[in-house]
Amino acid sequence: MIKIVLATSNKHKVDEINSVSMPFGVEFVLPDKNFNPIEDGSTFEENSYAKALAAAQCESSERKYFMADDSGLCVDFLNGAPGLKSARYAPSAQERIEKLLGALKDAKENQRGAKFVCSLVLIDKTGKILNKTFGTCKGKIAHSKSGDGGFGYDPIFVVENKNVTMAQLSEEEKNLVSHRGRALMDMLMWIKCSDLK
Ligand code: IMP
Repeated sequence: MIKIVLATSNKHKVDEINSVSMPFGVEFVLPDKNFNPIEDGSTFEENSYAKALAAAQCESSERKYFMADDSGLCVDFLNGAPGLKSARYAPSAQERIEKLLGALKDAKENQRGAKFVCSLVLIDKTGKILNKTFGTCKGKIAHSKSGDGGFGYDPIFVVENKNVTMAQLSEEEKNLVSHRGRALMDMLMWIKCSDLK
């Protein structure tokens, strides 16, 4: 099993990613307790790299590989907002959803297009980038919430070519179509074909 530190303090994220990666012989583990990244990049990729590097720099064990993800929701009518600020758009998940629905109250039906994006960066202990992948998931913003799966903006994000929100999909279904699931699958394929041990 190849062990990779996932630069997050969110154990749920580690479990979710491991449910996909373990069959590929890759196990993600939490970083050192001192992990405290600063996310002030101007792109998802910059933030992702900053998180991975922060995890590498504070690691006291013998771990060799570090991966981070940075993701967000980009809405056409808002010129790509909340984008990099998706997590900080408003104080709570419910308030973020309400704020976004409010910001779209004058948007016509064909102006509600949006996409989730996810950048994954894999580095070694020295900070050298080994591989990076990017996943997107297109859809549109609904007028109200549906479903209680997932997290964040999932209840108001209607997945393209499916008439349901991300929150109405099972975890397996979400992994198949989501920005994170797609970026992760590309990363796992690359790791499988690499000589990482
Ligand atoms: P981060 O990549 O963990 O910093 O996530 C950024 C923010 O984007 C999250 O806090 C959510 O608000 C939003 N987000 C990212 N991925 C998803 C998703 O799969 N569903 C819903 N919201 C998401």
